[in-house]
Amino acid sequence: MNRQRVKKDGVISFRIDWQACIRCGACVAVCPLQAGFITPFDTIAVERPCGVACLACENICPVSAIRHYPAADEEIAAHGVATEIPGGL
Ligand code: SF4
Ligand code: SF4
Repeated sequence: MNRQRVKKDGVISFRIDWQACIRCGACVAVCPLQAGFITPFDTIAVERPCGVACLACENICPVSAIRHYPAADEEIAAHGVATEIPGGL
């Protein structure tokens, strides 16, 4: 395994192996940010960095298609950081 560690206060981005993804939606269902991460493919968004970094999405994926890495400053500047539940629940 070659998983990168995330700093405790780190913001992460994801790489999705679209060849492996079976579009099960488990990553979206488990994500506390939910709709904020739904894409046209019904899985987590890959462009918007995540400031929650709970890794539930990565851990639940049945085919290990999700891999996180520390978000680059350029990604954060371009897309912002998801940190709140849509609708303010
Ligand atoms: S790390 Fe947690 S909050 Fe961030 S996208 Fe994955 S499940 Fe959602
Ligand atoms: S949990 Fe994994 S297989 Fe299922 S939709 Fe998400 S990335 Fe694809």
